[in-house]
Amino acid sequence: MNQRHHVIILGAGIAGVCCAREFVDRGFKVSLIESGPAAGVQGATAAGMGHIVVNDGDPEVLRLCLRGRELWRERLNEEETDQSYWRSGTLWMAEDDSQMEALKGALGRLQSAGVESELIEGERLFKVEPALARDLVGGLRIPHDGVVYAPKVTANLWNELEQVESYFHTAVVEIGDGWVQLANGSRLAGDAVIVATGISLLDHFTGAAGEWARQFPILPREGHLAITARGTRILGHHVVEAGYQKGAHQVSEEAVACAILPRPTDQLCLGSCRRPGRGGPVDAQLLQRIIDRCERFVPGVSSLPILRTWTGSRAATSDGKPLIGPMPGLKRTWLLGGFEGLGITQAPAAAELLCQRVLGEACILDPGAWDPARMRSAVVGRLHG
Ligand SMILES: Cc1cc2nc3c(=O)[nH]c(=O)nc-3n(C[C@H](O)[C@H](O)[C@H](O)COP(=O)(O)OP(=O)(O)OC[C@H]3O[C@@H](n4cnc5c(N)ncnc54)[C@H](O)[C@@H]3O)c2cc1C
Repeated sequence: MNQRHHVIILGAGIAGVCCAREFVDRGFKVSLIESGPAAGVQGATAAGMGHIVVNDGDPEVLRLCLRGRELWRERLNEEETDQSYWRSGTLWMAEDDSQMEALKGALGRLQSAGVESELIEGERLFKVEPALARDLVGGLRIPHDGVVYAPKVTANLWNELEQVESYFHTAVVEIGDGWVQLANGSRLAGDAVIVATGISLLDHFTGAAGEWARQFPILPREGHLAITARGTRILGHHVVEAGYQKGAHQVSEEAVACAILPRPTDQLCLGSCRRPGRGGPVDAQLLQRIIDRCERFVPGVSSLPILRTWTGSRAATSDGKPLIGPMPGLKRTWLLGGFEGLGITQAPAAAELLCQRVLGEACILDPGAWDPARMRSAVVGRLHG
């Protein structure tokens, strides 16, 4: 493809907007189609927590997160505002010795990948975060992790993009090889179509591509969050219980874990949970379980005034990793999604990688790990493994 070519991007969440930026920066003509009224106001981008976290669960995932974090830090100022990358750091908390051992393992993996991190044991934990429960045995601190307010950052990125032809309030109803059918009856064709529609990523394919999509559907995983009133930021780090990763990888059952994110607005965002399904009304009992879990790690947090509660839906794939690459069976249509709970962290790196693949440029990360065509062998392998 050369710069006379036309790229159509579907979805103006954080992934679609980061992707638009990659192509605009290279001088391409870009059209963006979004069913909502503006960028970053619908879907998971509007509902997420905004923790920019280097996740050590899998070496490829770690590399994608690390590159995402690096790009956010390059592109946003490091200040304490809603428009910026606020470097709060992550503190993983251990309740007992076995969790501390698990954190030591994570430390080893992070350090061998070059990620600055340290173990904090005994009394020093409470010097770092005085509000933590005194029976915790220690923690793992990752100082360069941070916080972005995804709706704002997405809107700002969008506003900086010039010459993008935008179609807001416009839903896509069918996607083919290099073309899309819109709900208003019109059809657009381009040299590349990038699908970044979050939990609807695979909803609009027909024919052989539609069959593939039905075989490997996107699995929505609901989360509940609450935000406290201003003046309640009793923590400096994003604190997460060590067992959180386990819940993040469970596909079928409900999982609740303590994850508390301090916001530059002097608030705390309290989470988190996962259960199958699209975000619906707030379930008061589930929310109470989340707040109780947070209280166990940060005594007093449950009595802070809550300003707002909401739900959102993460888009998970059957193997738990994002889809970044060509739609199987199609030549000019590409997928960018399935980020589960890491899409805000990973979006800039995933968009960069996809753009490099579409244009046949050298890729900064290994594209094979994310290629949608991996799904057959990955899922079959798991069934037999
Ligand atoms: C409760 C919760 C907490 C989270 N916390 C974090 C966190 O702390 N850190 C982190 O890194 N990630 C987090 N995430 C994950 C992160 O929010 C998502 O992975 C990320 O926002 C996905 O971005 P996206 O652009 O792929 O999808 P979305 O933000 O869902 O955007 C998709 C867009 O496509 C549009 N669209 C859909 N269908 C159509 C159609 N047919 N036609 C036109 N437009 C369409 C939608 O309106 C939407 O604007 C969290 C998610 C949830 C739900």
